[in-house]
This record gives sequence, C-alpha cells and structure tokens, in this order.
Amino acid sequence: MTALDRDALAARDAADPLARFRNDFELPDGVIYLDGNSLGPLPRVVRERVAACVTEEWGTGLIRSWNSAGWIDLPTKAGGKISALIGAEPESVVATDSTSVNLFKVLAAALALRPDRKVIVSEKSNFPTDLYMVEGLTELFGKGHELRLIEDPSKLPEALGKDVAAVMLTHVNYRSGYMHDMAAVTKSGHEAGALAIWDLAHSAGAVPVDLAGAGADFAVGCGYKYLNGGPGAPAFAYVAPRHQEAARQPLTGWFSHKAPFAFDHRFEATDGIKRFLCGTPPVLAMTALDAALDLWSEVDMAALREKSVALTECFIELVESRCAGLGLTLASPREAAQRGSQVSFAHESGYPVMQALIARGVIGDFRAPDLLRFGFTPLYTRFADVWDAVTHLEDILRTRCWDRPEFHARAAVT
Ligand SMILES: *Cc1c(COP(=O)(O)O)cnc(C)c1O
Repeated sequence: MTALDRDALAARDAADPLARFRNDFELPDGVIYLDGNSLGPLPRVVRERVAACVTEEWGTGLIRSWNSAGWIDLPTKAGGKISALIGAEPESVVATDSTSVNLFKVLAAALALRPDRKVIVSEKSNFPTDLYMVEGLTELFGKGHELRLIEDPSKLPEALGKDVAAVMLTHVNYRSGYMHDMAAVTKSGHEAGALAIWDLAHSAGAVPVDLAGAGADFAVGCGYKYLNGGPGAPAFAYVAPRHQEAARQPLTGWFSHKAPFAFDHRFEATDGIKRFLCGTPPVLAMTALDAALDLWSEVDMAALREKSVALTECFIELVESRCAGLGLTLASPREAAQRGSQVSFAHESGYPVMQALIARGVIGDFRAPDLLRFGFTPLYTRFADVWDAVTHLEDILRTRCWDRPEFHARAAVT
C-alpha cells in the first residue's frame, strides 16, 4: 500500500467509482457515520416515498391502496429486490417480521424436515437473540431438542454428528466481523445430513452473498442495517426452492393462507415463499425498506466488496500505527477474506472511549465488555473519513479526555 496520508486518501475518494452514492443519503454535517452496520442512514428516496405513502396512499387512497398502491405485494416485491443481493433464486425471499421472528419460523421448518435429529449447532458468540430463539422454540416443541454451541469456527467438524438437524450460523459475526465460508460450511453440514440456516444480518448489502451457489437451505436477515430500511425495518426470510413445498412454519397467520380473503375457518397453507408470511405487513415501514432497496440496483457488489476491504484495511493499518501503545487490540480477523465490513478493537475503557468519539461526531458503537465496533459502509463512507476518525481516536486516547464522568454514564442502547 502507498503511504497513507490524508491527501492520498482524498485522492482515492476522487477516483472511487462508488462515490456518487453518498449523495443518495441524508447524512448530517460534521458526522462520520461508522454505524451503518447497526442502523443504516436515511436514503433521500425514502423520505419522498414514505411522505407520498402517508399523504397520497394512506391519506387519500385509504383502504383502496391495498390494491391500487400495491401494498399487498410489498413483502414479495421487497423480497425480490433482496434476493438479487444475496444470490437467491427468484421467489425465494419475503420481507416480513423481524429477524428474530423469521429465525423462529425457518428453524421450526428445518427441524420438521429432520424429525429424527435433535441437535441444532450454533456458535457461542452468535448474536444472542439467535440463540434465545432456539431456546424458546425447543422448549415449545418439547421434543428434547438441544442447542450445541461451538467456541470457534474451527470446532465445527467435531460438532457435526448424525444427531444434527441444522447448523444455524450468522455469516458475519456481529462482534468480531469474522466471516464464515458459507459454501464450505453448508457443504460439511449437508455431508453430515444437516440443513444449513444462515443469518445474513451483517452480510446483506455488506458483502457479496451467493445463497443458491452455496446450497443454503434457509436464511434470514435484517432490513435496518446495511439495507438502510429504517429503524425496526422489516427483516427477510429465504427458503430454498427445493424445500418450499415441504417446509411448514408454525406462525400460520392469514397472510400465509392460500386464500386470506376467503375467510375460511380452516388453515390451508399457500404455496411458495408466501407461506413464510404471518400477518398484515407494516406498510409504512415496508414502503421505506422497499424504497431503500432501489439504491442497490445500480451497485456493483464486486466493487462494493473491493472498497469495503480497502476501507477496513486502511482503518486497521492507521489505528495500529497511529494509536500504537494506547491500549487497543484488534478483535477482528486480520485476513481480509475472513472479515465482513466491520472492524472491532478491544480497549479496557471501550465504553467511555466510544462515547468520547460520538461526542465528536464519529459514530460507532460499543459491545460489552470491551469492544469498539466500527462499520464501513462503502456506499457513503469515504477514505478521508477513515483518516479523520483515526485522528479523533488517537487524540481521545492520548489526552485521555474519555475519562470524563459524562462519558462513563451508560445509556440503555450502546
Ligand atoms: C441485528 C441482528 C439481529 C436483530 O434481530 P431483531 O429481531 O431485528 O431484533 C438478529 N441477529 C443478528 C445476527 C443480528 O446482527
């Protein structure tokens, strides 16, 4: 890499083929936003589309808009746009519910497809809600299912026995940013007779994903992180076409019925991916997500990945050189191929250090007990932002200004 200084990085921005997308977002002045992995910023098109949805579709169209404005098709329409981003087959993705709820549905479907097997393999460091959902589901099932947690990815082969129904992993780890080899893990799961369920919360819109190519069975993912769908945006669920006929999910609301408006008193599952819907979609939130997804039609995912790797490499190199001896330890894989689009550093006073950064407009987040987490979202993050963020971090650590009482006060959301 050439010598890193601010001018060299600004020159990279000037030559960046993705630079034009920054103008598609509303980003406040004076903010370096390194938390798009937790809540994506507001795409300009979303402001317009949601306003039109409220004023015209809801305000004037009223209930007619379910048909005339296509509200009823939003889950499959948004799902179709997501499928293009994650290498999914047509009509294999719906936007619906939350990631947690979708995980419940696909897990239940997967376990029913492997009735003789009682083990779900996952990772101890998986996002807690994923593990909590397994606990709740297995308790409800009452069939003696067991969650087998591996300590790190290298232990996967030993965990895969004839008793394993499903391997349920998050593709990119929310803490370290470690990225699994989806194709290889899916293959070893299949060789053991298990199904592969992937959580793409930190992958969709962050790294190229090829669900069909990897042979994945089920997947879920998040709408409000890299997909910029807005706070609490609908999540998504993927079911491989080969499972769609046999797969059943237990939240059999009327939107998963063959003929919801027949108002039959008996449930009959609809065909295809719509079986993974449950109830009425949140139209305002779905409209925001659907509009945000339009940005992706012009994004070259290979270029996105290339810039993501360059941003994270640059950040690691600058932090390790400029903040050497200041108590930071890299907590993400050094190898770019094993890293998603985020970088974490451990620091024993991670919480107040992050609050001091946020007070200066450098917004990342903190994950207990000691991780400073920085998301690099190539659509709007500039190379010069990386330089400026590290300049603030270095200054905060050298002056120890993080050690003020106001930076130690804990908020509910970190
Ligand atoms: C963000 C995230 C979730 C969020 O789940 P919700 O149901 O939307 O709260 C789930 N799993 C992983 C791995 C995540 O990163």
